[in-house]
Amino acid sequence: MKALVKTAKGPGNLELRDMPVPTPGEGEVLLKILAAGVCGTDLHVRDDTFPYWPPVILGHEFSAQVERLGEGASLVAEGDRVVGEPHTKACGHCPLCRTGNVQICAAKRSPGWGIDGAMAEYLVMPEHLLHKLPDSIGDDVGAVIEPTANAVHDVLERAGVDGGDFVAVIGPGPIGLLAAMTARAGGARDVMIIGTDADEAVRMPKARELGFEHVVNVQKQKPAEILAELTGGIGADLVVECSGSAGGIASTVELVRKKGRICAIGLPGRDTLEFPYKAAAFKVCDLHFCLSTSYTSWNRAIDLVACGHIQADQIVTHAKPLDEWESVFADIDKQVAIKAVLIP
Ligand SMILES: [Zn+2]
Ligand SMILES: [Zn+2]
Repeated sequence: MKALVKTAKGPGNLELRDMPVPTPGEGEVLLKILAAGVCGTDLHVRDDTFPYWPPVILGHEFSAQVERLGEGASLVAEGDRVVGEPHTKACGHCPLCRTGNVQICAAKRSPGWGIDGAMAEYLVMPEHLLHKLPDSIGDDVGAVIEPTANAVHDVLERAGVDGGDFVAVIGPGPIGLLAAMTARAGGARDVMIIGTDADEAVRMPKARELGFEHVVNVQKQKPAEILAELTGGIGADLVVECSGSAGGIASTVELVRKKGRICAIGLPGRDTLEFPYKAAAFKVCDLHFCLSTSYTSWNRAIDLVACGHIQADQIVTHAKPLDEWESVFADIDKQVAIKAVLIP
């Protein structure tokens, strides 16, 4: 089968290769991939800035059809359309796994970097990590359920958006736009979206197209002043940081109201950076760090997309054959793509 493989350690080293079709073991199923989403993680593996074990097939975001059941598999049937939590190899018995936090188990090795992933014609997955897709969600949108589940986990489950909240989202990339839509679905009264000059071409117009009125360029306007005007000087109830930039992270404290919440999603490139700790202490705000997805966020993401409250289809700007991966990756680098899916 055709597959996009990270062949060796070091930057680059990606190629389309002919790989054997994997065989499902006990409790596993063979999936025929319908669409595979390209995520920041795939680019980090390409650039050698994320842990991975080569040679490995890229991709952890996918929609698929069940092709064949391994021994003992019974939760899904051949022909079912599914998506899957990338929590493969989680041990199942550590304190994190036993408290429902398999997503941060130290033994976890996800498809796309820890084990072979979804940018291929076929993928083997344990059946207990799969969720069925309703007919109303197409194949391309199915491939972005994983990042949508991220937004749902982070904004609804971790930071707990409340009815009537004023929310500020920093960084209008795919996760930022999904977080903004999730906050709105969770009852936020308004969502302000903050970007930079680099976001002016594609991402900020998309945010406006999605119905967000307050889209602010931090290099031209002062978000804190606009926010103060919109909230009667109080500030945002919830600030969702999706940029991972030092400036974005530091600005969360200025934007959040006293006793408000900061939801930290974007990962900075550096290990340490400046943070206005004292100002945060005087604001008595809560800081929620977020990583990956919970079991519950998957069903909720599927339901919110199916009912149209999160328009995940709107962020898919590219659906291209797997053969065209190089130009698709380049479009993501140039920020002319928001979310891209590859069709094997
Ligand atoms: Zn992802
Ligand atoms: Zn574990």
